[in-house]
Amino acid sequence: MTRVAVVGAGFSGLAAAVDLVDAGYDVQVFEARPRVGGRVWSEPIDGPDGTGPIIERGAEFVLDGYDHMRRWLNRFGLELANTGMSYYERDAYGVQDVSRADMRAAAAVLGAAPRSESDSVGDVLARIDVRPDVAAAVGARIQVSSAFGIDQLNVSVIDHAGSFTAHPSFRVATGNQSLAKAMAAFLGERVHLDNEVYSIDWDTNGATIRTDDIDHDVDAVIVTIPLPHLREFPFHPPLPSDRHEALDRMTMGNAAKAHISLKAPAPTSAVLSVRDLFWCWTCTGLDGSVVPVLNTFAGSPESVGRLDTENGPTSWANRLAEIRSDLDLDLDSTVITTWHDDPWARGAYTADTVRQLPGDVDIFCAPLGCLYFAGEHTAGEWSGLMEGALRTGSRAAAELMAEMPLA
Ligand SMILES: Cc1cc2nc3c(=O)[nH]c(=O)nc-3n(C[C@H](O)[C@H](O)[C@H](O)COP(=O)(O)OP(=O)(O)OC[C@H]3O[C@@H](n4cnc5c(N)ncnc54)[C@H](O)[C@@H]3O)c2cc1C
Repeated sequence: MTRVAVVGAGFSGLAAAVDLVDAGYDVQVFEARPRVGGRVWSEPIDGPDGTGPIIERGAEFVLDGYDHMRRWLNRFGLELANTGMSYYERDAYGVQDVSRADMRAAAAVLGAAPRSESDSVGDVLARIDVRPDVAAAVGARIQVSSAFGIDQLNVSVIDHAGSFTAHPSFRVATGNQSLAKAMAAFLGERVHLDNEVYSIDWDTNGATIRTDDIDHDVDAVIVTIPLPHLREFPFHPPLPSDRHEALDRMTMGNAAKAHISLKAPAPTSAVLSVRDLFWCWTCTGLDGSVVPVLNTFAGSPESVGRLDTENGPTSWANRLAEIRSDLDLDLDSTVITTWHDDPWARGAYTADTVRQLPGDVDIFCAPLGCLYFAGEHTAGEWSGLMEGALRTGSRAAAELMAEMPLA
């Protein structure tokens, strides 16, 4: 039977592994963390064994077009909860008289503005005729969602991060990580946690992957480790130089999250702090009532840098208390999650910057000998998203099956 190693048990690795097991391949998944899910991490707000509401310390929203994710959720009998608010529409805080309608209209002007391939979002935003406060709010929204500064972001992100029209937004009712746990339960003993892969020796016939325990000889490997790791990962022989150059032009953005319990019931809400470059929201759970938690997401290195998270939650929590004076916040309950210092992510998700060339992703993620590549960074227009991770896992599994069909 064809033996396949999958490196990484995030959504991409797990999707690849389940597809291959379904088709009859002999699969082993190696994951460096003590848990599955990677950048999808759901926990009660009062700690792993607590009973408080589930918070999403990584990926949160299930959005328009998440067809693969919905298919996976159906397969494992998992339900979506409507958040009762829209990820796409936020009230702007800290700017004068900027309404949601103003932002929507400016985003439409931005999307329709003439642009060249080398333009950044900041370049085009500076050229359009909209009020400075509205432009600042639109720029902040795109920067936060894309986890990178608008002066480096490629203008094409407007097409993905630029929707300012309300659509329903969802989360998995029992936590997004429930999907990873369900996939891992299906895979059973094929998933090896606390198993960092140190190196891969490969050629066209097969590979040896090195872990703590033992060397594993396999016929093929699906590599799903995040971008910063991939650049430095010891492949023997090394990846060809064109792939390295493409990898070097790709960029990982940065983000952090904060969660604070509410002491009194609140309505749903979505507020973007234009100055601070973070947004915060309250939303409903499966039963339709508002979950008593304020959720916050800071996106881009600039935004996270300002929050002084190295010195604990106080600075961010105090800022939130000022912006959300409408809420009764239990500041002592604040939980902060940073991703730039997470050893197995080293950032949030891929940002499409002006350094990246068209075709870089295709150069990088094409199969190479017995190596196949998946992960959100290989997802093209779906990069940076759970949906992208799942799609690329299935794509890499299909590439492998086409190349190495079972007899
Ligand atoms: C703060 C934040 C908010 C987000 N919000 C959203 C959102 O609202 N909606 C959305 O759709 N997406 C969101 N995302 C993005 C989403 O989380 C990712 O796109 C997706 O989870 C990436 O999956 P992946 O499998 O590509 O990578 P990962 O989940 O990172 O999985 C890769 C795995 O490889 C493991 N690994 C690394 N090195 C090794 C090694 N040497 N050996 C073995 N294992 C290794 C890692 O531990 C990890 O588990 C968010 C991400 C963050 C960080």
